Amino acid sequence: MRPEIAGLLREDLRGRQPYGAPQLDVPVRLNTNENSYAVPEDVVAAIVEEVRAVAAHLNRYPDREFTTLREALAAYLRAQTGVAVEADQVWAGNGSNEVLLHLVQAFGGVGRTALGFTPAYSMHPIITRTTGTTWVDGLRGTPTGVFDLDSDLAVAQVRRHRPQIIFLCSPNNPTGTALDLDVVRAVLQQAPESLVVVDEAYAEFARPGTPSAMTLLAGHPLLVVTRTMSKAFALAGARVGYLAADPDLVDALRLVRMPYHLSDPTQAVALAAIRHDASLLATVEAVKRQRDDLVDKLGALGFPPVPSDANFVLFGGLADERTTWQALLERGVLVRDVGIRHHLRVTAGTPDESEAFLLALGDLPDSHRQLPAPAGNEQAREGAPA
Ligand code: PMP
Repeated sequence: MRPEIAGLLREDLRGRQPYGAPQLDVPVRLNTNENSYAVPEDVVAAIVEEVRAVAAHLNRYPDREFTTLREALAAYLRAQTGVAVEADQVWAGNGSNEVLLHLVQAFGGVGRTALGFTPAYSMHPIITRTTGTTWVDGLRGTPTGVFDLDSDLAVAQVRRHRPQIIFLCSPNNPTGTALDLDVVRAVLQQAPESLVVVDEAYAEFARPGTPSAMTLLAGHPLLVVTRTMSKAFALAGARVGYLAADPDLVDALRLVRMPYHLSDPTQAVALAAIRHDASLLATVEAVKRQRDDLVDKLGALGFPPVPSDANFVLFGGLADERTTWQALLERGVLVRDVGIRHHLRVTAGTPDESEAFLLALGDLPDSHRQLPAPAGNEQAREGAPA
């Protein structure tokens, strides 16, 4: 970086790394947890029709309050979770990343602290820091499981750091397991004056009987549940994420969003997709079957998988995850190194993609396998993105 640019850059951003999941053109891309199934033809046709209808009016700004989209998202959430959500409880942005940014812009800032439990979604700290908010890397891990977060561990860290914002992620990325709602309840009780954000980007893939934190919205005005159309809806390219919360909290987000942040084409694409949700969400069951199959087969191959409620699986048993990541890439399979020693994360794709991944993994020499090691080896790598 030119010294005059580095010199003027905000001090707290100097030396930081941007989000950087590799975007490589390889035959099997299983590294960013997209939905591997293409948008079905009937939905493509509906999207084209909706976008066509707004095209002639692009000389005008879009509906700043995206009212129709909010109503449609509220109806979807009511149907999906059984929780009585109204349009004034819904907010949306260009991906749930932007929705998270709005939350941190409104409730974080210099002198305030956000706490997350690592390893979790690597963008939580990056988004937090863009607003000058202090990020605290809390810990997961209990005697019952290295990646579990239990109520006592969460509450102890909340008590210690007294954060204004607390990030929970369920199902958790990159580990895959959904959070017990008792943990959310315990955190809400311990921190009644903090914003508690439950990131449910992968909620639709959860195993049967996994309740959403949306069921806790009533009576908790500082609880926010974020969702996205990038995963189950197979619309990562459209950039639409949303949240449900108290109407007053949603109203506060209007103070920080840029005017007209959701373009007319974006609103049109999202609406067409929600109107065809049955067709789009039909892939969810297929992805879940692939996920469960991956869990079984990884276990059988001797690479212990972490139980998954998402569209990806974290697996261990690797001597050196960086070497295995590279070896898989050379075999045309891109997975994700999430910075956890001896582990890699793989997205559950189509049956052909899963097969290609399992074949490539099974084909690797034994030198890729971790030798039995003393306990306590599963920490994040020094300086690696979690
Ligand atoms: N939350 C989690 C846990 C994620 O894994 C992702 C994407 N990988 C997001 C939020 C953001 O997704 P988007 O901005 O596409 O909605």
